[in-house]
Amino acid sequence: MNVIQLIGVEDKFQRACERVVQLFDDESKVLFESGSDFLGDLSISFKTSQSDHAIYTEAVFKENDKVLGKKTVKLERNGHPLKKVEKQTILYTLLSLLEEYTQMEQPWGVLTGVRPTKLYHSMRKEGKSKKEIHKELNELYLLRPEKIDLLGKIVDRQLAVVPDLDEVRKEVSIYIGIPFCPTMCAYCTFPAYAINGKNGSVAEFLTGLHYEMEQTGNWLKENNVKVTTIYFGGGTPTSITASEMDALYQKMYDVFPNVDQVRELTVEAGRPDTITQDKIDVLNKWKVDRISVNPQSFTNETLKAIGRHHTVEETIDKYHLAYKNGLTNINMDLIIGLPGEGMEEFAHTLAVTKELRPTSLTVHTLSYKRASQMTKYKEKYKVATRNEIHDMMTLAGDWMNKEGYVPYYLYRQKNILGNLENVGYAIPDQESIYNIMIMEEVQTIIGLGCGAASKWIDPMTGKIDRFANPKEPQAYINSYQTYTEKKIGALEKLFGNINENKNSLPSL
Ligand code: SF4
Repeated sequence: MNVIQLIGVEDKFQRACERVVQLFDDESKVLFESGSDFLGDLSISFKTSQSDHAIYTEAVFKENDKVLGKKTVKLERNGHPLKKVEKQTILYTLLSLLEEYTQMEQPWGVLTGVRPTKLYHSMRKEGKSKKEIHKELNELYLLRPEKIDLLGKIVDRQLAVVPDLDEVRKEVSIYIGIPFCPTMCAYCTFPAYAINGKNGSVAEFLTGLHYEMEQTGNWLKENNVKVTTIYFGGGTPTSITASEMDALYQKMYDVFPNVDQVRELTVEAGRPDTITQDKIDVLNKWKVDRISVNPQSFTNETLKAIGRHHTVEETIDKYHLAYKNGLTNINMDLIIGLPGEGMEEFAHTLAVTKELRPTSLTVHTLSYKRASQMTKYKEKYKVATRNEIHDMMTLAGDWMNKEGYVPYYLYRQKNILGNLENVGYAIPDQESIYNIMIMEEVQTIIGLGCGAASKWIDPMTGKIDRFANPKEPQAYINSYQTYTEKKIGALEKLFGNINENKNSLPSL
């Protein structure tokens, strides 16, 4: 399906149609004009009509002059805006025809966004019952029942963990990006630089970071804005030395308001090769609640193939070291679809995970991010088929259920294998609050450090804006003062008059 022509689609629905086509083949080209320069063989023409209560879309799918399929979809308006229903009938028809043609099922229906839980939350906030939400997601978006159930479970869990989820936008969370790693992994597109590399010195970077923390902390204190969670990510935040970590956390306690009352403090210790006894002592000294130790896979050949530079044994040893020293809330990331891995390897990873019993597990489906080595050399890395990926995801879900892990956040990515999702699971009450904050976009996240993206959520209107710090350490070192100033300016605008309105936020 290299090129397909869609005829009779209004301009404002074209981008959505394109996204639906690309669910089946992300390299497909979609043409909308009906001119004679069309270079492909496939076309679908749409015709939409309406009655008082419903919208109808008729579509004919052709290969040259041969009719491959016909479909008519009728959707009841049920109080929805006309244009919304019209758009959904077109997407619905398009998806159904392409599912039949390609024999590929799309479990997320016509939903192509990153955060399907947000849609569920918005319907919940409109006062719709679970049954109504289920019906709407199924009828308007063609979501399969198992995905709707998954969303429902996640939303319930989020509300249990953060009962004030709809109000938490009067506070902020803080993300601190440490852009260094011992070495680079092949699939990485995070802002990560080899710690001994040439891109800026660690000491200069930390000077900038301390400055940013101080200025931001002062502003939060002066303006009486509370901090919900603090999260150190990267790169690998434990790739700096124990004494650098110690000074950084000391600074955090000195400058941020009431760190003792922050709901959660997380430090990613993703790479097991960075975890040492002295760093664990520092994490404990500053009462870090939660760390992550990331195996990705428990097969040594895979770790080698993805350039991970640590062994399975090292992950297990470091996990035990952290656990026995009192860091018992540990997240592990697993990845489905790593090169050379099928059901057997993934089942093995789950079996080892079972022995360790981390408090939370994030199951990622590998995505081919444009800038990673793995995408550049796609032929070199053999990955599982779409069906295998689907089976592994099902296995993961069943396994989690059996082992007492409950899903609590979910997001989707472009180019994700099998068009599936990444799901965070946890033993109940061990969920990461920060992950819920960032995924549901319910409050401002202030990003400090390299590559840290700030997300501004206006507490009065819910409007979202983004602001990113430089990715490269040297660029950050050269400009952190300017970036800090801009962020303080943005905070002033967002929270300038919130103090008067804190107790009467509009419902969004
Ligand atoms: S440990 Fe994570 S951040 Fe560092 S290079 Fe590997 S994937 Fe990238």
